[in-house]
Amino acid sequence: MDFTITKREEDFRQELRAWLEENLPDGWLEGNRELPKEKDKYSEFLRNWQNTLYEGGWTAIAWPKKYGGRDATLMEEIIYHQEMVRVQAPPLVNYIGIHMVGPTLIQNGTEEQKEQYIKKILTGEQVWCQGYSEPNAGSDLAAIQSSAVRDGDRWILNGQKVWTSFGHLADRCFLLARTSHNSEKKHKGITAFLLDMNQSGVETKPIVQMDGRQEFNEVYLTDAVAYDSEIVGDVDEGWRVMIALMLHERTGIGAEMFTLEKQFNDMVEMAKEFRVNDKPLLKDPFVRQKMADFYARSRGSLLNYYRNLTNTLKRGKPGPESSIDKLLVSELTKEMAGFIMSIQGHNGVLWKEDAPVDTYWQDNFLGSFGQTIGGGTSEVQRNTIGERVLGLPKDMGR
Ligand SMILES: Cc1cc2nc3c(=O)[nH]c(=O)nc-3n(C[C@H](O)[C@H](O)[C@H](O)COP(=O)(O)OP(=O)(O)OC[C@H]3O[C@@H](n4cnc5c(N)ncnc54)[C@H](O)[C@@H]3O)c2cc1C
Repeated sequence: MDFTITKREEDFRQELRAWLEENLPDGWLEGNRELPKEKDKYSEFLRNWQNTLYEGGWTAIAWPKKYGGRDATLMEEIIYHQEMVRVQAPPLVNYIGIHMVGPTLIQNGTEEQKEQYIKKILTGEQVWCQGYSEPNAGSDLAAIQSSAVRDGDRWILNGQKVWTSFGHLADRCFLLARTSHNSEKKHKGITAFLLDMNQSGVETKPIVQMDGRQEFNEVYLTDAVAYDSEIVGDVDEGWRVMIALMLHERTGIGAEMFTLEKQFNDMVEMAKEFRVNDKPLLKDPFVRQKMADFYARSRGSLLNYYRNLTNTLKRGKPGPESSIDKLLVSELTKEMAGFIMSIQGHNGVLWKEDAPVDTYWQDNFLGSFGQTIGGGTSEVQRNTIGERVLGLPKDMGR
């Protein structure tokens, strides 16, 4: 791949920069990036931001123009990620809609479903969550027990989901439920539903994370209702659709490479300023060696991500190699954040108001554990890479 930036690409960067300067929330570029704490205000703030992005033509730029994207080239996509990370743009409240459900519907949805959902996903009018995991069905997703039983033209759903990110804010859930118990293979008999979350049969209960945030939930289904028009793919054949969404999920997580790149640069800045025995940390040979190692690994991971992205764009859909990006970025993020905590000495364990400087790295460190689990654990990514990328024999345990 040629990384030289052409005039057209530089123009694209400047267009986006100018747009961000004009449209980011007030005070954002000056460092006032506090998000509202209260649930409704938080949701409203982020939905407004999503809609601003949509109106400027800056959501889902890699999607086809026909569906509201820009048919962005690979370089444009890279520039887009770099610029969004540079200004630490507000998070996407409809991350799951944009990165996972939208592309899956474009690939597998009916024309009516595309008509009904795609635009609302882009504008943030409809926020989505993903209802895959259940107690006892995470890595082994085919073990799901939530059931959907036909009742005339409706389906009645019962069961429990867990770790549902954005579930408390979502209007719809891309949900898997068992529709048949008669299949010989357990991944048969599962169906993908586009479930309406705003109904009495759906209850969400927040789960508090170790950093104090509440980003995911338990979701209880008690005679919840879905219709035939809310099924993606064929009844009992949801596994194929589930995999399509998961590959998009892993490619999306791979794009965290750009955040990693920024964190590396922040780490260097911190090591220049932070002093131990009156010497900047950066002068310490151990710290320098460790940073050189992080640099080499993060640079290598980024180049590998570009290679995988190129393949995805050529094929029109992601492949199993997205597991490599997901594995590398989450493990490296965790290791880097842990290292930075440790070189801060006793300051590293101080938190929020007790800390002498802000707790950016502490936040990253605590969040990084979840990153190595969500979207499939590191062990599961290694199995996928072994079996589906390298062609090694299957995991003995399965
Ligand atoms: C931040 C975060 C956000 C999430 N968001 C969502 C969401 O929005 N929607 C959703 O549906 N889920 C979500 N999840 C759930 C996530 O997908 C699951 O936690 C994950 O798939 C692991 O499943 P589990 O927790 O049941 O662990 P288990 O599958 O029980 O795994 C326990 C341990 O055993 C290991 N293990 C399991 N099988 C194998 C194997 N075959 N070989 C080697 N080791 C193995 C695992 O790696 C892990 O270390 C989220 C999780 C996190 C942390």
